[in-house]
Amino acid sequence: MRGFELVHPASLDEAIKLLDVDDPTVRPFSGGTALMLMMKTGVFQPSILVHLGGLEAEHAAVAVTPEGGLRIGALATLTSVEHSAEVVRVAPVIPRAMKRLANVRVRNVARIGGNLAHGDPHMDLPPVLSSLGGAVTVRGPGGTRSIPIEGLFSGYYETVLTRGELITDVTLPSQRGWASAYLKCTTRSADDWPTLGVAVSLKVTDGAIAESRVMVSAATEKLTRLPSAEAVLKGANAGEDAVARAADAAAAEAETIDDARGSAEYKTELLRVYVKRALGEAIRNGAVQ
Ligand SMILES: Cc1cc2nc3c(=O)[nH]c(=O)nc-3n(C[C@H](O)[C@H](O)[C@H](O)COP(=O)(O)OP(=O)(O)OC[C@H]3O[C@@H](n4cnc5c(N)ncnc54)[C@H](O)[C@@H]3O)c2cc1C
Repeated sequence: MRGFELVHPASLDEAIKLLDVDDPTVRPFSGGTALMLMMKTGVFQPSILVHLGGLEAEHAAVAVTPEGGLRIGALATLTSVEHSAEVVRVAPVIPRAMKRLANVRVRNVARIGGNLAHGDPHMDLPPVLSSLGGAVTVRGPGGTRSIPIEGLFSGYYETVLTRGELITDVTLPSQRGWASAYLKCTTRSADDWPTLGVAVSLKVTDGAIAESRVMVSAATEKLTRLPSAEAVLKGANAGEDAVARAADAAAAEAETIDDARGSAEYKTELLRVYVKRALGEAIRNGAVQ
């Protein structure tokens, strides 16, 4: 690894000023778990890393919003999110998903902002947080904006963040009345990166599905929402028939890709099975009160 400069801004505004919008080798650094791997393998050679860890005191809080949702500072570690009493109460699917996300050493260091900014389609949190209707707040030289997480990813390891922009917060709406589940399938070893991730959220009123969000990751080039599966679910009774039809619609719609973990055809069949299982699990989990 070649040498680089590590700078420690005293505030988020200073960090944004330090990020050179014309130089892609100047990068923000949160937990460093993804960046360091890229640096060690020679995929990325920084000139300057802007270390955000020193801003943890102001930007790592987890709080319930007045509307009953959540605001999570971008520098919250995955472990602190996993064990937050607020997260457990408002969005229990997040701590359930964390149990199989990397390992405790990585979760202790990785930050939720770094996790989302990395743009890796195999990550577990993007499908989970987008199925909950989550958004990121982003600050940069041009000001502050909110981006729905389902629209954050523009391609394989690509996001819509522009150079100089930092994720400052993750926000989730109230989950009251919504039931959620996340399932992933690893085809090589149990702790490998997923071949497929499926996250679903359902709002069931009087036994019928009023609204849903169905997200797929890992098997597709980027995090993808599946509106045709959601259309099948809308207004249907929360029973096996609708679940099976939605799974077929998901398999027909998703553009799965070939890679070392399996062919596109194989992943399409996995998707059919896992959408069915995830919907069944969400219904069994029941709605957040
Ligand atoms: C052994 C191992 C196993 C893993 N297994 C899994 C797994 O099973 N599931 C899973 O989902 N993930 C897994 N991961 C990936 C892990 O979740 C990510 O590496 C981690 O979440 C990235 O967060 P970080 O804070 O370390 O990001 P960093 O490495 O600091 O940064 C990642 C990227 O985001 C940018 N960035 C960082 N912070 C911000 C910000 N606030 N705003 C804008 N850009 C920013 C950086 O410039 C960089 O491009 C694994 C990682 C390892 C090392």
